[in-house]
Amino acid sequence: MKNAGSIGMSRRSFLASSASVAAVLAVSGQAGLAQAVTPHKLPDLPFANDALEPIISAQTISFHYGRHHRGYLDNLNRQLQGSPLATLSLVDLIKATAGRPEDEAIFNNAAQVWNHTFYWQSLKPNGGGEPPERLAAMMRDSFGSVQACKQALIQAANRQFASGWAWLVQDGARLRVVSTSNAELPLSEAFNPLLTIDVWEHAYYLDHQNKRAAYTEAVVERLLNWQFANDNVVT
Ligand code: MN
Repeated sequence: MKNAGSIGMSRRSFLASSASVAAVLAVSGQAGLAQAVTPHKLPDLPFANDALEPIISAQTISFHYGRHHRGYLDNLNRQLQGSPLATLSLVDLIKATAGRPEDEAIFNNAAQVWNHTFYWQSLKPNGGGEPPERLAAMMRDSFGSVQACKQALIQAANRQFASGWAWLVQDGARLRVVSTSNAELPLSEAFNPLLTIDVWEHAYYLDHQNKRAAYTEAVVERLLNWQFANDNVVT
């Protein structure tokens, strides 16, 4: 299977070309994030708490969005008090702190704020199904079939050891599936994220306990917002 599985890139290489990140986000509809200034704010969920049931319950959303996502945001705003980094947009903050051990705590919270906002947008009630034709054609070109692309995404999500994320990314004219650990994210000049799946245990444990595969397969088949991914493609 082409492009399947994890690419073991470091945070530094994902974020090697910092100048492109804001541009990528602006093009990919994330301008609101790119413009954010401190105190950073929690974006509204694009659906009701119970809209993703039974795959992702209202209880999971209440903790995941209301406690985890908000927690990263509150931690970040607290860490930025009195810091020269407080003037940076969220994306510039991620770029400025990536790969710097002394800024790891700020990077982790900033990246998790961005990742979760992107994750909520990657899901929709009654999602899944057939992607829009432009995206489907790219899937066929890069993976052989739409189903093979979906399987690569499921496999990357299931194989990511411990906490992390599985991503569909655009690499020029091609698509790739990659996974990242903890708060890391595939933003670079080469990689334009199209959608993501959270595979931290807090994303699925209340609903699926240890059965991560049950969560990832249901998300890919029934919740992914292919229109969002298609709209994020840069041509
Ligand atoms: Mn999460």
